[in-house]
Amino acid sequence: MTAVQSSAEDRGGELAPRPRRRALLARPSLLAVYVPMVVALHLALIVAGLLNTVPRADDLLTFAALVACGAACIEATRRLGVPAGVARDMLSAWWLPVVLLLPPLYALLTPVPLQILLQFRVRRTLLYRRMLVMSALGVAGAAASVVFHLVVPEPLERPLWVLDGFPDVVVAVGCAALFTILNALLVAVAAHAANPGSRWRDVLWNRESLLLDVVELCVGMLVAIACALSLGLLLLALPPVVLLQRSLMHQQLQAAARTDAKTGLLNAAAWQREADTELSRAQRTHDPLALLLIDIDHFKRVNDTHGHLVGDQVLVGVAGTLCGQLRDYDVVGRFGGEEFVVLLPGADTVEACRVAERLRGRIRRLAVPAEDGTVAVTISVGVALFRMHGEDLIELLAAADLALYRAKQSGRDRVCLPAVDGPRASGG
Ligand code: GH3
Ligand code: MG
Ligand code: MG
Repeated sequence: MTAVQSSAEDRGGELAPRPRRRALLARPSLLAVYVPMVVALHLALIVAGLLNTVPRADDLLTFAALVACGAACIEATRRLGVPAGVARDMLSAWWLPVVLLLPPLYALLTPVPLQILLQFRVRRTLLYRRMLVMSALGVAGAAASVVFHLVVPEPLERPLWVLDGFPDVVVAVGCAALFTILNALLVAVAAHAANPGSRWRDVLWNRESLLLDVVELCVGMLVAIACALSLGLLLLALPPVVLLQRSLMHQQLQAAARTDAKTGLLNAAAWQREADTELSRAQRTHDPLALLLIDIDHFKRVNDTHGHLVGDQVLVGVAGTLCGQLRDYDVVGRFGGEEFVVLLPGADTVEACRVAERLRGRIRRLAVPAEDGTVAVTISVGVALFRMHGEDLIELLAAADLALYRAKQSGRDRVCLPAVDGPRASGG
C-alpha cells in the first residue's frame, strides 16, 4: 500500500521550517481539517466494531497470524531502508486476507500495530502522515470487508466459497479492488490538499503504481485463499512475499538514489551521468546540443516572506513546468537549491534560446498559492552551446554559469548567452 513519507524532513539543516507551528497546522487549512476527520472516522468505526463484534477464537488466531506475518515482512526488509517520498510495499498481502476473511473490526485494527512498527522500526515520518495512512487503510479495509461479508457471510467458517470460484471469488477480487481504490482516494485527497498545485491525475495514479496495485491485489488474493483453506499455509506464503517485498524496496531505493525527492527530477549526480551519455552521442553524430542553467530569481525572498513550505511548492511548480514544456529526450535535473539544469539534444543556438524563452514565459505565468494570495515566480537562464562554448560537460556548465551570472547582473528574468562581445540578453 501507499505510505506517504515526509519530504520536508529531507531538507538540510539550513532549511529548518521557519514557521514554529506544528507540522499539520502549518499545512494548508483543508489538510488540517481532513486528516483529523479521517482519523476520527477510523476511531469511531473501531469503537462501533468493538461494540458489535463477538470475539471468536478462530478469528483472533487468524488475525494474530496475519499481523505476525506482516510484522515479519517489515522486520525482514527493515535493514534495506525505505526511500523518501511515497513508498510502496507488499503489506496488502496481509491486509487483504484480514479484509476478506475476518469481521470488519479486524480490518480496522490491523493497520494499527503494523503502522506503529513501521514508524518505530523502519522510518519515523511526520505523525499526521502516519496517522492518515493508518486510518485510510483501516477505513478502506472496513468498507471492503462489509461489502464482502454481505455476499459471503462466514468466509472463514465456510471456506467453500474459495473452491466455488465464480461468483464469490470474483466478488472477493472486486472487494480487494474497492479496498485499493478507496485507500488510494483517501490518501490522494490529503496529497492534493498538501500540494494544491498538483494535478489529480498525478496524485491518483500512474502506470507504474497501477501495475503495483494489480500485483498487490493478486498476491493478497492468493494469500487470502491459502489462509481460508488452512492457516498453516501462511508459512508457505511468507517467504515469497518477503522476497517480493525486498525486491520492490530495492528497486525503489535504486530509483530514489537517482531522483531529487522534492521535485521528482533527476538529482545532480544522475543528471550528470545522463548528460555525459548525451554529450558522447552528440560528439559521435556531430549533432548540436545545448545546456540551460536555470535559477529562480529572489527565491530567498519567497522563503522569507511566505515560509519554506511555500518555497518548496514553488520548486515543485517550476519543476513541473519544466517537465511539461520539454521533450521526452531532454534531460532535466535539479542541480542544487533553486537551480535547475536542462540538456537539449539536437538544439542549436536559435532553438535553445527559443526553448529558454518559452520556459521563462511559462514560469512567469505560474501562480503558486500562499496564505496571502499567490507567489509570482521568475527565472534567469544561462544558455551554452556544445562546441561553441565548451567541449565537455564541465566547460559547458562553466559557460552556462557565466551566462546565468550575466542574466542576473542585467536585471534577472531573462535569457543570456555567455558571449563577452555583442551581449545577447532578452526578457525582463
Ligand atoms: P538570485 O535572484 O540572485 O538567485 O537570489 P536568490 O534569493 O534566488 O538566491 P540565494 O542564493 O540568495 O538564495 C537561495 C535560497 O534558496 C537560499 C536557500 O535557503 C533556498 N533554498 C535552497 N534549497 C531550498 C529548498 O529545497 N527549499 C526551500 N524552500 N528553499 C531552498
Ligand atoms: Mg536564485
Ligand atoms: Mg542560486
